[in-house]
Amino acid sequence: MNRELLREEALRYGATAAVFIKAPSISVEDELVEMCRAPGCTGYGKSANCPPHVMGPREAKSFIAGFEEALFFKLDVEPVLLFSDERFRIFELIFRIAAGLEIKARSSGFKKARALAAGSCKPVFCNDEPCDVLSGSGECRHPSLARPSMEALGINVFKLAHGVGWPIHRMTKVSNPGEISSAMVAGILLFSI
Ligand code: SF4
Repeated sequence: MNRELLREEALRYGATAAVFIKAPSISVEDELVEMCRAPGCTGYGKSANCPPHVMGPREAKSFIAGFEEALFFKLDVEPVLLFSDERFRIFELIFRIAAGLEIKARSSGFKKARALAAGSCKPVFCNDEPCDVLSGSGECRHPSLARPSMEALGINVFKLAHGVGWPIHRMTKVSNPGEISSAMVAGILLFSI
């Protein structure tokens, strides 16, 4: 499969934009994982795809070193939506794009392709139920959709966005969405030619 078709698939699945980057240009930083800790994210430790249960930055660096290329994709959204319950619908779309791309890439010859999404899979797919991997059957309820996020592995999404010229603004729970000019949610597909 021509890798350009993967980019077209990302747009067809709903991404606003998607660009190829070299996997070695992805920056993984130990301290970024610390930002997942509560109160930064209330989902910390509650899903098998979130720290400290997912691979740590050291393992993530070696994991990413196993790939040559990456397709970085984003969804542009109204900032106010990320402060509302609508955010879960937005994050679900990023999970669906990521998982869809991974499946498409693997079935098209990029056999080891792996995708990463954004945010925690737990509020998107399991709501108030405990993570089944951590406290139940040991199997994910949504293996075809749930993926770790880029930030959970310590990937610096800001650097990636700046590198491809996409505007990105830091947001916290106390930010005023009216003062933020744009917002995006991003994911990535890692693969080798
Ligand atoms: S069972 Fe739910 S919370 Fe656990 S990894 Fe799967 S989707 Fe995420």
